Amino acid sequence: MNHDPFIVEPGTKISLQKDFDPSYKAEFHEKADARKKLKAGIKELASYQDILYAQNTYAVLLIFQAMDAAGKDSTIKHVMSGINPQGCQVFSFKAPSDEELDHDYLWRSMKSLPERGRIGIFNRSYYEELLVVRVHRELLEKQQLPYIPNGNKVWEQRFEEINNFEKYLFNNGILVLKFFLNVSKNEQKKRFLDRIESPDKNWKFSPSDVRERAFWDDYMMAYEDVFNHTSTEYAPWYIIPADKKWFTRLVVADIICKKLRELNLQYPVLGEAEKQRLLEAKTVLESETD
Ligand code: ATP
Ligand code: MG
Repeated sequence: MNHDPFIVEPGTKISLQKDFDPSYKAEFHEKADARKKLKAGIKELASYQDILYAQNTYAVLLIFQAMDAAGKDSTIKHVMSGINPQGCQVFSFKAPSDEELDHDYLWRSMKSLPERGRIGIFNRSYYEELLVVRVHRELLEKQQLPYIPNGNKVWEQRFEEINNFEKYLFNNGILVLKFFLNVSKNEQKKRFLDRIESPDKNWKFSPSDVRERAFWDDYMMAYEDVFNHTSTEYAPWYIIPADKKWFTRLVVADIICKKLRELNLQYPVLGEAEKQRLLEAKTVLESETD
């Protein structure tokens, strides 16, 4: 699949509204068209994860950001469904606790970074510091900062800090991929109504979701600014159409596979001394009498 329509090219300025259509489906018409390709993608991903784990050199960090009901949870569930649970960790970031507020804002993310050989998933992330905190600026007051730069300076400072952080991760072998699941306001409304009307989905609905929806335009502005400042060669942003959940999953799986393929992962190759030890172990096993 061509990924050009989804990537935020580093150094360019995008418009969420003009350049990205939440209902885009490429050449696919319906769910059934995509099933086979998604299945193949999930299988391929599992095979890369096996080598990633064996090689123990790289780690992968997948960041998912979205408005409520865009399908973060179900995308993570489907795309990762073939993966060995030992090689994968998911962290969901909520409003910070008192302990977290006693630290710098990247602390809780640092603590949750994937080890080499693993795939780490952030369901929401430190980008909330440029999203919900920007839309509700009063949240900054709780952060016990010694100084809050005026106006947009505080966000510009955070763009820089986050870019530096991600460069550091890249230099240390952590592949960072960032996905924004781009759901339309209309589709979000449909999904909220469905959550209210279907008893087995009631648990997914929170009245605060509707309160945040009222800030939709502010969120879109904040997201756009994030994409225009933090999509880099070493940690690109992908804006994934999210009005059709099956298409979201397909594209996310396809992008992760492509980026893992590019890492050119290799199973470790044994040196002569290690090969010799294997042969010795074989001889011992074969000479067992019972
Ligand atoms: P779901 O609704 O599907 O369970 P969710 O990710 O929306 O998933 P919630 O518990 O509803 O989970 O929401 C988490 C909330 O925490 C979001 O409103 C988010 O904006 C907020 N949050 C996350 N990080 C921060 C942060 N650094 N500062 C303030 N609020 C944050
Ligand atoms: Mg929520």
